[in-house]
Amino acid sequence: MFGSHLSIAGSMTNALNEAVELGLDTVQVFTKNQQQWKAPPLDPGAVREWRSRVAALGWQDRIVSHASYLINLASVNEELWAKSVDLMTQEIERCEALGIAFLVHHPGSHVGTTLEAGLANIARAYKEVFRRTKGARVVSCFEGTAGAGSTIGGPFEHLRDVRSLSEESTGEAARLGYCLDSCHLHAAGHDMSTAESAGKVLGAFDAMCGVRHLKVWHLNDSKGKLGSHLDRHAHVGEGEVGGGTPGKCSPKKLRASGFAAILRDPRFASVPKILETPKEEDAKGKPMDLTNVRRLRGLME
Ligand SMILES: [Zn+2]
Ligand SMILES: [Zn+2]
Repeated sequence: MFGSHLSIAGSMTNALNEAVELGLDTVQVFTKNQQQWKAPPLDPGAVREWRSRVAALGWQDRIVSHASYLINLASVNEELWAKSVDLMTQEIERCEALGIAFLVHHPGSHVGTTLEAGLANIARAYKEVFRRTKGARVVSCFEGTAGAGSTIGGPFEHLRDVRSLSEESTGEAARLGYCLDSCHLHAAGHDMSTAESAGKVLGAFDAMCGVRHLKVWHLNDSKGKLGSHLDRHAHVGEGEVGGGTPGKCSPKKLRASGFAAILRDPRFASVPKILETPKEEDAKGKPMDLTNVRRLRGLME
């Protein structure tokens, strides 16, 4: 099940239409401007149009929303923490209104405090957010990060602890999941460059976090080297994971890479796999999303 992060500029349903044009099976969207704290309420007409289009496509179980990058539920600053709780509440409410299945968000940063205090702040934030959005069905997915500085989510211990502490504080296991990003994994120091090393990474993730809680994959190649903590996405097969260079994919290396391990793993067959690669066109003016998804589908054969 392949998708891409697409724009809702002009109309929410534009993202659905573009996904269909690209031959995709799902889509990831921002449900609001991701750089702003405030968002105008969703227009009821737009919600109706979105929901009927999603139902016609049969995509009720697979659409992903990415939460705003402004949110930091780990923050030691009470004002920023409270604003983050408010915005996360809105993100969940918008997903509910639109019938979106998964909400991906970065765990946050513990800058100015300890990792333990940051994790506790997230669990406390979730308690409040879930209390305000009682009964919501969207699964909030902690995304593994490249792990730069005080960013939470590079080591699997962080992902294990943030989810288990939030489960403890909310009592709502079914509303908490994970999203892994192949670029972030590699940049965080989990070697995704060969199918064999990736198999070990996925085994370690399963042992520590539980692969059954993995609801979304972000399939991006990485401009940064292993352990570089650089969050820079490259086209599939043109980075450190797939073994190529910008503009040059080696199909042989790609077939031996971590991408192949992910795509051949039956546990991920029905997990949405989202591209967050640069929205560029090739020399012939063809969207690179088409090339990226063709490369990924090729690995399943
Ligand atoms: Zn991602
Ligand atoms: Zn990223």
